[in-house]
Amino acid sequence: MLEFAEKSCKVRIDTSKCDTCETKACAEACKKYARGLLGIDEQGRASVAHLTDEEVLRLGTECLACEFACKFRGNDAITIEVPVKGLDEYLEKRGLL
Ligand code: SF4
Ligand code: SF4
Repeated sequence: MLEFAEKSCKVRIDTSKCDTCETKACAEACKKYARGLLGIDEQGRASVAHLTDEEVLRLGTECLACEFACKFRGNDAITIEVPVKGLDEYLEKRGLL
């Protein structure tokens, strides 16, 4: 499992799913729609190991392109959590939690 933080979101990748992924669409999407911080390591898995945490924070645009690409062209390995302040309280108030 790979986890890294961008400015206001957390990217979580089940890299065990990368082994059978033929497209590696996440890295391509990150390069096309963001700054290409997401790479593919020697094992063929999604990785940011070539960057420091600070570089990941600086380069991450929170664009969600990798999640979308992986869901539709990869193996659905990426989850991006974007915390919305006050959302839980809002949902609880309306009985939606
Ligand atoms: S597209 Fe998804 S499954 Fe494929 S390498 Fe990237 S994160 Fe892994
Ligand atoms: S959210 Fe955007 S910038 Fe961040 S890793 Fe995914 S494609 Fe790259």
